[in-house]
Formats: sequence, structure tokens, C-alpha cells
Amino acid sequence: MKEPIIKVSNLSHRYNIQWAIKDINFEFNNKGIYGLLGANGAGKSTLMNIICGVLNQTDGDVFINGINLRENPVQAKKHIGFLPQQPPLQPELTIEEYLTYCAYLRLMPENTIKQAVQEVMEKCKISHFAQRIIKNLSGGYQQRVGIAQAIIHRPDFIVLDEPTNGLDPNQILEVRSLIKEIAEERTVLLSTHILQEVQALCDDIWMINEGQIIFSGTLDEFDHYAMPGLFNATLL
Ligand code: ATP
Repeated sequence: MKEPIIKVSNLSHRYNIQWAIKDINFEFNNKGIYGLLGANGAGKSTLMNIICGVLNQTDGDVFINGINLRENPVQAKKHIGFLPQQPPLQPELTIEEYLTYCAYLRLMPENTIKQAVQEVMEKCKISHFAQRIIKNLSGGYQQRVGIAQAIIHRPDFIVLDEPTNGLDPNQILEVRSLIKEIAEERTVLLSTHILQEVQALCDDIWMINEGQIIFSGTLDEFDHYAMPGLFNATLL
């Protein structure tokens, strides 16, 4: 039987004595966009950093296509692309230079890099700015570059931590449309504290509060579960 793209098993993490996430369990198999919704401080970034192998968990396991991330991080990370909340962009490089650098960091075979960079720039609609210095780009274009670095090595699972934070309304729509496109070919896990973001993008939702999953289900089920006043007040 095919292994789930991601399986999270009894995952917990604490910073000193404070538990940031506690006993998280979920798995999913299909392409599409899965939403992790939670207010500031709920534990989203902690969970995402662990899933992407940036932070070591206190307890529990993460499996990517059946590979235990803790036991075999190099192999597991080949399947994961990550856009952290603060993308590790190199502001002085051009887009093309930066994506080439990311491809080398991902240990892609040298003879595949040029084409991979061209393909990912086309996919993220940034080819026309290939020679622009990153620090001179708008926030929306910088976020496209962030998404491009997340998919340069063609992973089948992408994690996007609050990908539209800080963007203006037009940029938000453009980045959401790009996320929809890349999710046609891959599985995307996206975190946000904005209810409309999951409503616009996701079919399946997990809601996290104080480090614990308090809801999981479809968008329809969530609409029945959520008391609009409560979530509008806390999450918008
Ligand atoms: P935000 O949307 O504000 O980034 P979040 O849902 O991503 O919030 P986390 O950043 O994972 O939440 O934080 C979860 C809890 O862990 C919070 O109480 C936070 O203060 C705490 N925390 C996060 N990082 C650290 C750290 N490096 N050291 C100590 N406590 C931390």
C-alpha cells in the first residue's frame, strides 16, 4: 500500500518548560492544499519547522513518504519544499543567481540546474525579472521567489508558512493563484491565521489552538463547526 505523503505521529515540542505543540497526529495522501489555521502563537510555525526538519521535536515522529525524518533527514528532505515565514532570500543576488544557488544547496546534479532554474522561473512567472536584484522586487515578487526556491528540486510535498503575510490585497490574490497552480501537481500544507485564506484555498483544514489540533475536516464541515463571531474576532 502507498505510504502517506506526510504522517505526523504523537508530535510534541517544548521550548524549555513550555509546550508549544502537544500530541499532534495527522496524515494525508493526495494532491491539493491542506490548511493549518490558528491564531498567533498557536504553534503553527513550530509544527511546520519540525515537519521540514528545521527544528528537532521533543517527542513523536514525522514520516515523509514513509521515511522517518528524524532517522533519515537527508532522504526525507528531498521530498519536502519549505517556504518559512522569513524566506531565506539573498537580497543582493539576482533571481536567477539565487535560484541557482538554491539548486546547488539542494545538491541537484549540476547538469540539471540551468533547466530547473528556467522551469521554476516560468512556473512562478518571474522569468522576465530573472536578472533583477531580489532586494529591488516588490513583496509579492519576493514571495514568488520564495515559492520558487521551495519547488526548485521538484518535491512532491510543499510547506508554506503564512505565505501571504505582509502582502497587499493584489499581491495576496496573485500569490494565492500561484499556490493553487503549484498544488495541481503536489501536496501543499499551508499555515495561516486568516480564515479567508483557508476558505479561498483549502479543501481540508486542521485548526490548532494552544498547540493542539481542535478541529480537522473539510471546509464545509468547518463552516458548520466554526462560530463565525468567535473566529472572525480571533483570526482576522
Ligand atoms: P505566529 O503566527 O505568531 O508565528 P505560531 O502559531 O506560528 O504563531 P509558534 O511560533 O509556533 O506559533 O509559537 C508557539 C508557542 O511557542 C508560542 O507560545 C511562542 O511564544 C512559543 N515559542 C515559539 N518559538 C519559541 C522559541 N524559540 N523559544 C521559546 N518559545 C517559543
